[in-house]
Amino acid sequence: MSLSRREFFKHAGSAGVGAAVGVATLGLERVEAAATTLRIKEAKVHTSVCPYCSVGCNQLVYSKGDSIIDIEGHPDTPHTLGKLCPKGAATIQLSNNPLRPTKALYRAPGSEKWEEKPIEWMYDEIAKRYYDTREKYFIEREKDKEGKDVVVNRLEAIASLGSACIDNEECYLLTKFNRAFGIVYHEHQARV
Ligand code: SF4
Repeated sequence: MSLSRREFFKHAGSAGVGAAVGVATLGLERVEAAATTLRIKEAKVHTSVCPYCSVGCNQLVYSKGDSIIDIEGHPDTPHTLGKLCPKGAATIQLSNNPLRPTKALYRAPGSEKWEEKPIEWMYDEIAKRYYDTREKYFIEREKDKEGKDVVVNRLEAIASLGSACIDNEECYLLTKFNRAFGIVYHEHQARV
């Protein structure tokens, strides 16, 4: 059936009215409200802030027992009115995610294959390498332009790149840690 532009709008208008009548008859808002209530029924609700970025969207975190069962935007947040961006809307995956790695993957220098290692082993290895690198390459004093010996306390052999997956507090701690180590190559990919 071919329709003129005018006929198309006429039919679309009637369909819209039909749909609206259907929604009103079913009481869709009540159905939606009931569905939401069932999902989080008897759950404890905690207010929180999305950990990802400095927009600081508030969240409602629902838990049952030791598990988080749902996270959604907090409607009282003045600058978002309860909305979250896709990353914030997926924060439940920080807690519930069967695909989340629980072991470290390590590839030894010169090797072509990755080996699974326990997380604790990885922490120890990182700490050891940080320590050894700092011991070896820390620059305590340097000559300035006039050739005068000055204290610089600088470490150029380690660079630090922050991540959008670390939260504001973690960024703060990382900054403090890097400064304490004398690391000068200190960057964050989002630059927030
Ligand atoms: S990551 Fe998204 S939801 Fe989280 S604070 Fe930033 S803008 Fe808000």
